[in-house]
Amino acid sequence: MDCLVKEQYETLGISEEVYKFGANIECELRERFAAIDARAEYNQLKVLKAMQDHRVSAECFNGSSGYGYNDLGRDTLEKVYASCFCGEDALVRPQITCGTHALALALMSNLRPGDELLSPVGKPYDTLEEVIGIRPSRGSLAEYGVTYRQVDLRPDGEFDYDGIKDAINERTRLVTIQRSKGYAARKTLSVARIGELISFIRSVKPDVICMVDNCYGEFVEEREPLEVGADMIVGSLIKNPGGGLAPVGGYIVGKRECVENAAYRLTSPGLGKEVGASLGIMQSFYQGLFLAPTVVAGALKGAIFAANIYERLGFSVIPDGSESRHDIIQAVVFQNPDALIAFCEGIQAAAPVDSYVTPEPWAMPGYDSDVIMAAGAFVQGSSIELSADGPLKPPYAVYFQGGLTWFHAKIGILKSLQKLKERNLVNRDLLW
Ligand SMILES: *Cc1c(COP(=O)(O)O)cnc(C)c1O
Repeated sequence: MDCLVKEQYETLGISEEVYKFGANIECELRERFAAIDARAEYNQLKVLKAMQDHRVSAECFNGSSGYGYNDLGRDTLEKVYASCFCGEDALVRPQITCGTHALALALMSNLRPGDELLSPVGKPYDTLEEVIGIRPSRGSLAEYGVTYRQVDLRPDGEFDYDGIKDAINERTRLVTIQRSKGYAARKTLSVARIGELISFIRSVKPDVICMVDNCYGEFVEEREPLEVGADMIVGSLIKNPGGGLAPVGGYIVGKRECVENAAYRLTSPGLGKEVGASLGIMQSFYQGLFLAPTVVAGALKGAIFAANIYERLGFSVIPDGSESRHDIIQAVVFQNPDALIAFCEGIQAAAPVDSYVTPEPWAMPGYDSDVIMAAGAFVQGSSIELSADGPLKPPYAVYFQGGLTWFHAKIGILKSLQKLKERNLVNRDLLW
């Protein structure tokens, strides 16, 4: 059996040495993988219960057109999301184009001129800079008279409680907390830490709205941020909760008032959630959510496998090989541009789509250096599918995430290692 699998890997260009190196690492990870499966099992039941409680039926998969009045599938899905993530209400729509759009919507609909937005966990995700107006942009919150304040994490990674207390004032209306580290150097926040932060903020100002950017965090733990006091969670359907099947979309789940505000902004005052045709893609939203806990488990195993492989080979990896996980992103620091490029070529070569393409560094708008990206995805830009990218500048770190199945994540990582090995970019003494 083992022999057959190995032969199959060989047909995909994985040498015996690389295969065995991976197999040994995988063997050592058995207990951690079992814990991930146990969490996926819990989350699978959670999703199933929500679908049953809201009587999901075949009718829910019928699409609506035009105004989309009385769209049973859309309205039921929003109830399922609300139950699943422990919110009062939800907005889950194909008309929300991406994660940034969902976050912009949540912010712009819940803030008013004269209000202040606070980030107590440092700089938010790059694309939010223009939304907030940290970098000036057309229609930013700043243009509408919403000011912004930021409190960085302390050098040891802890919350700067004194700084946060000082920053909160009579105008502070909404606090934005990014769960995943994104491309920052800090650690991803666990749900428990988010809970501690929210409790503290409420002790200073009880009526402030606490929003969590939940991107890449869904189903990684048993609990979600609304269960520890958040008012609103926001994310993208082409990441974790879409399970790889949702072709587009974003969500906002939380307090009824917050969701209603967002709906009035997405469509129009007075119309809110009542309009918005689902255009026949509801089945993929339901089915994707149903698969999401398992898909996330596969991606997590891939991230941990990659961390352990590259750690063993002497590279610095974030999170490290044994740390607990709170999102699906893995960074590997190569300190060498050729290694970064080889890694991305390996990920691309393992893709089901566009595997024959060679990724090349290019000057992506908004970045101050060339960036290399590997993605051969069924859904454009989907990062719950196996993907990797990194800027071509020191320390030459790659950010790796996704994999619709653990086996696909595994072949991707082995393929990356194969490329590095063929170009003599790994220390052979460590490998064999
Ligand atoms: C991906 C991501 C976003 C933005 O989502 P897009 O779909 O790329 O617009 C925002 N915040 C975090 C933490 C993310 O990971």
